[in-house]
Amino acid sequence: MVGSIREEGNGGVHGQWGPFHMVDLPLGAMDNKTSVRLWVVRGSTKTAIIDSGVHARYAQVLEAFDALGMAPHDLDYLLLTHEHMDHVGNNAQLVRDTGCAVLAHPLRADRIADNVLNAETIVHAFPDVEPYFDIQPEYLDWMGPDAAAVDRFITEGDTIDLGDTKIEVVETPGHSMAEIGFYHGDSNTLVLGDPLMPAYDLVLNLYEDPRTMQATHRKIIDMIRDRAIETVLTAHHRPLPADEAITWAQECHDRIDKIAETILKTIESHPGIEFGPLRDIVCDKWEKLKEWRALVTINGHLLDFEEKGVVRKSEKGWKRV
Ligand SMILES: [Zn+2]
Repeated sequence: MVGSIREEGNGGVHGQWGPFHMVDLPLGAMDNKTSVRLWVVRGSTKTAIIDSGVHARYAQVLEAFDALGMAPHDLDYLLLTHEHMDHVGNNAQLVRDTGCAVLAHPLRADRIADNVLNAETIVHAFPDVEPYFDIQPEYLDWMGPDAAAVDRFITEGDTIDLGDTKIEVVETPGHSMAEIGFYHGDSNTLVLGDPLMPAYDLVLNLYEDPRTMQATHRKIIDMIRDRAIETVLTAHHRPLPADEAITWAQECHDRIDKIAETILKTIESHPGIEFGPLRDIVCDKWEKLKEWRALVTINGHLLDFEEKGVVRKSEKGWKRV
């Protein structure tokens, strides 16, 4: 079944693909994205939601439940694609209001249970380059004042049993090393968090490890073909038919090689370059924002290059070997 979808995030329930009801939460000017999408799944015995969204939009989550004929206490499971702030912002509030259990990959359970740790390990991971901006105004809109711990760990191949609806966990690491997606076989629908990023995004993509990210892109392509997936749903972009999703995943995969090339050439032409100036030059070349996400991505490439022995870091900065 194909629902109708507006490109702009306007809130509310915006259609259904397989068993997944889209809850569309606007991000406004935040982050150059129009919205973050949550997915409510109502099985014959249990009800789940995928991701909890940004805290500033919590009222719209409850409105969506209402629109779907649900009371808050009907929610049994909160399934998390990954620990990033726009996906976990209402965890604590949802647990309090619904009594749901939180299910997530074990790798980042510590960050999910601690909002400050969560922000510090990614947004403030490189304080020597990015000034330590105030965590309160920046993130309370996204994450809310408190967090909720993970109740149950889920990994590759696990099944979320909602009665007549069974959802399979698919590991999709790279953007977050703990990222997972959800596959519903009966409707050939795949729900992803953020492993696919559009080229027009003003952010220089975001992945912690380029090789892991590319392996996930190949995995998504293979899975779409092998399992005859019809629709791919993602957190920030419109639902896609299989052929468009394959093209997009291939583009994302190939873009990583091009970003790697830019970084390597920049180090070659600026021997001894420091991490901060390297980020700025690479972002300028790609016409992207010089912000913290680019640091995460470029750091991932530098670690990869070091491992391959093509660059090394000295006291004077980065050099080609
Ligand atoms: Zn996201």
